[in-house]
Amino acid sequence: MKMEKILKTLCGAIGTSGDETAPVKAALELTGLPNGKVLPLGSGCVSLGKADAEKVILLEAHMDQIGLVVTSVDEHGFLHFANCGGSDQRVMPGCPVRVFATGADKPLLGVVGSVPPHLDRANTDKVPDVEDMTVDLGLPAVKAKTVVCPGDRVVPVYEPKKLMGTRFSSAALDNRAGAAAVVRAARLLQQVDLGSWRVLLLFSTMEEIGGQGAHTAAYTAAVDEAICVDVGFGIQPGVKPEVSHPVGGGVMIGSAPILDRGMTRRLGQLADENHISYKWDVMGGFTGTNSDDIAVTRGGVRTALLSVPQRSMHTPAEVVDMQDIEDTALLMALYVCDRCGASLPQPAQSAEEPAADTAASAGAESDGEVWSACLPQLCRERGVSGSEEGVRELILSQISNFAEKIEITPLGSILAYKKGKNRAKTRLLLNAHMDEVGLIITHITDEGFLRFAPVGRIDPRVLPGRSVTVGYGKNTVPGVIGLKPIHLLEKGERGKAIPVEELYIDIGAKDKQEAAKVAVPGDMVTFNSVYEENGFSVKSRALDDRAGCALLVHLMQQPDWAYDTIFEFAVQGEVGCNGSCTGAYLAQPEAAVVVECTAASDVPGTETDQQVCRLGQGPVITFMDHKTIYDKEYTKWAFEEARKAGVPCQWQEGVDGDNDAGAIYISRGGVRTAAVSLPCRYPHAPMGIVSRSDYEAAGALLQCLAQRIAGTPCSGQ
Ligand SMILES: [Zn+2]
Repeated sequence: MKMEKILKTLCGAIGTSGDETAPVKAALELTGLPNGKVLPLGSGCVSLGKADAEKVILLEAHMDQIGLVVTSVDEHGFLHFANCGGSDQRVMPGCPVRVFATGADKPLLGVVGSVPPHLDRANTDKVPDVEDMTVDLGLPAVKAKTVVCPGDRVVPVYEPKKLMGTRFSSAALDNRAGAAAVVRAARLLQQVDLGSWRVLLLFSTMEEIGGQGAHTAAYTAAVDEAICVDVGFGIQPGVKPEVSHPVGGGVMIGSAPILDRGMTRRLGQLADENHISYKWDVMGGFTGTNSDDIAVTRGGVRTALLSVPQRSMHTPAEVVDMQDIEDTALLMALYVCDRCGASLPQPAQSAEEPAADTAASAGAESDGEVWSACLPQLCRERGVSGSEEGVRELILSQISNFAEKIEITPLGSILAYKKGKNRAKTRLLLNAHMDEVGLIITHITDEGFLRFAPVGRIDPRVLPGRSVTVGYGKNTVPGVIGLKPIHLLEKGERGKAIPVEELYIDIGAKDKQEAAKVAVPGDMVTFNSVYEENGFSVKSRALDDRAGCALLVHLMQQPDWAYDTIFEFAVQGEVGCNGSCTGAYLAQPEAAVVVECTAASDVPGTETDQQVCRLGQGPVITFMDHKTIYDKEYTKWAFEEARKAGVPCQWQEGVDGDNDAGAIYISRGGVRTAAVSLPCRYPHAPMGIVSRSDYEAAGALLQCLAQRIAGTPCSGQ
């Protein structure tokens, strides 16, 4: 079996400390051995060789992964949580998560929200404490309270994926990488005559919260020798070479007072004899792994420790090399053969195999009813400012049958002219922007990491640990935004935001040359995230402003349209309104309505009078923002039309942000402009939330407002 398949199976079975049933079961099955047993604290064990063998050697890996645990659900339906294992708070803001809710038959999608940066100016260099962050499920409070219970587990959304060469990335690789080595060793030893020895494979629980699983299992098993497998620190920016080993550089053989010197030395000799590359991983005191516990079980157990080097440990961006795992497994199997005087029947299978499938962005999925026409497709399409081609093609395919004429502007915006039943009394333009915020590659380091700059305004605190896609069209490569492991942080680094210049994308390249084959400066980067709708909300990447585009597509497709109207799908809305500025010049409207997403700050930690707008209270009408003073009459009409249409509508209660209106209303001799926005939580982050009722209300309001503006002669104010 390919190592990639073993890792995908093990990493895909989710299990935080104390809740490891799924990964333990998966590991036992992967060994291919019968009679696997689950012990009282959940650890799984299975053995090779005669049941009455004189001596027993234990091969151990822990199965739990770090995660979060819900502590309470507040009166607004936000989930408060605590760490379950050593999660790094720096990867949490903006992180899409799965909540394993007691009252739901499948995990619920949520996002870790925090106070928007512009409302938190004094603290933007700090990452909030875990107690001050919450998970937002986009559900009404009463619903959240019925399904979620304190004690429910929360895990980041992640997708195990192969990177370049033999590198592999996933959350939970600490320690599914170790478990994969034990599984492989078991498979290598299945044809070996173990003589008077028995090999016990132990997949233990609760290592991240103290090692209770291995502690109790080792007592029960009464073993003579043990080899533990865990992960070690891989070399990466910010990590000292003295305490780390290159990912892809072979196995790390632990050396510490608690570890048996004879076993350790023999492992080194066997690695030398069999040309397995390794590094001594010397620790002064305890190892911080299960070997500390196993060594002192009963009257004492001779114990050794092997580690697989790993970058970005304890984040969703963990990276290992599959060949290192193969090397670790081979060394363990060689050691066992050495003890029983046997030899391995065949050399280990190489991990250098073609990928079974290419890792792509996290799966497209939908929960139940789809209520938004082409919104799912629009959100899945990638299009950072300046790279909107895919979004443009998709929109054109949806609207071309409904337009009298379509123009593509020199910068790439769409101007679509829709015929109404009447000639417009006022030449009206409806505008939404096609682009999304993202990143752009600026530089490739000698080590093969990709440095980047943000495209559009992104709070750098939402970046560490995120899964991303680099490149265009079919020429993309998956990556993760790496960061120094929490264990190695210096005093003062904990809870501190990482500046963008220090972040980098890990695509698993060996070096600069390899990376340069798949990425060049200027390549666009988008977040990978999941798309999901439920009865109350939609959660996705790029809702700003694909939700606006979807509303405009929906309006274009209406058969009963009162007046001739121009629809604009603009490029580069997030980087200075360049598309809308030039588009308005070409289209020459007399009036415009900009359809946007605006930041809803109705989240814990924001005072009520600072929330600006709230999810679920209808589309947002703006009187003024940082670039535009909106047309007073149109603004008044928006509220009147909402009332007539029987939908709610809310003021943007604050002068906040800006949008394409800023360019349109000063085009040529001036354009009377209004903005109808969807309240969106976390708009410039990997996953935002928009309410279903707001989306539907905005559609109804826009149709009425467009009819009134286009049907009334434009006379200025
Ligand atoms: Zn926008």
